[in-house]
Amino acid sequence: MKKIIFATGNEGKMREVRMILAETGYEILSMKEAGIDIDIVEDGKTFEENAMIKAKAIAATPEAAGAVVLADDSGLEIDALGGEPGIYSARYEGEDTPYEIKNRKLIDRLEGVPDEKRTARFVCAIAAAFPNGDVKSVRGTIEGRINYDPVGENGFGYDPIFYVPEFDCTTAQLSPEQKNEISHRGKALRMIKEFME
Ligand code: IMP
Repeated sequence: MKKIIFATGNEGKMREVRMILAETGYEILSMKEAGIDIDIVEDGKTFEENAMIKAKAIAATPEAAGAVVLADDSGLEIDALGGEPGIYSARYEGEDTPYEIKNRKLIDRLEGVPDEKRTARFVCAIAAAFPNGDVKSVRGTIEGRINYDPVGENGFGYDPIFYVPEFDCTTAQLSPEQKNEISHRGKALRMIKEFME
């Protein structure tokens, strides 16, 4: 059976990937399941560059021979902060700092900024490295606004402060299925799926 290896250690992401790519007929493995354990320096300047760096590094391991390797890089861009935290979203205010603190910090930095200037988006780039050496990347986004307070228990990371006007709630108030339908990662994964089919 043909294999996809998805380059993440994040189980939440793996669940989304398995849900969306289930019908492709590929066996879907995490890096751990494929027996790959390497450190990759993500020193790209864009989401796409970082996703490509990860996909290529993993595709070069002997364990990945013959498989399609997918890697993603994602983050939150806030317009009023010049696109911050952007590609540094995971590292913003320190990698191990709890999101209650990161989210509060971003809300505080937007003090006095009115609704129409609180625009933001989640971005997800996914790179696919194919066994013949081709590499392709796609980008999915979801537009929203930074809320005045964190709300909601679902999702992870910046979800409690990401307000989606169409749903009149934050992405932390959506069910996993609802979020998959509209999210940056869901969109990017469906683009990759189409491409693979
Ligand atoms: P990555 O795992 O290197 O792609 O880091 C992405 C970071 O962006 C995460 O650690 C979160 O801080 C943020 N992020 C990306 N996607 C989401 C999302 O769907 N909800 C909330 N935060 C997200």
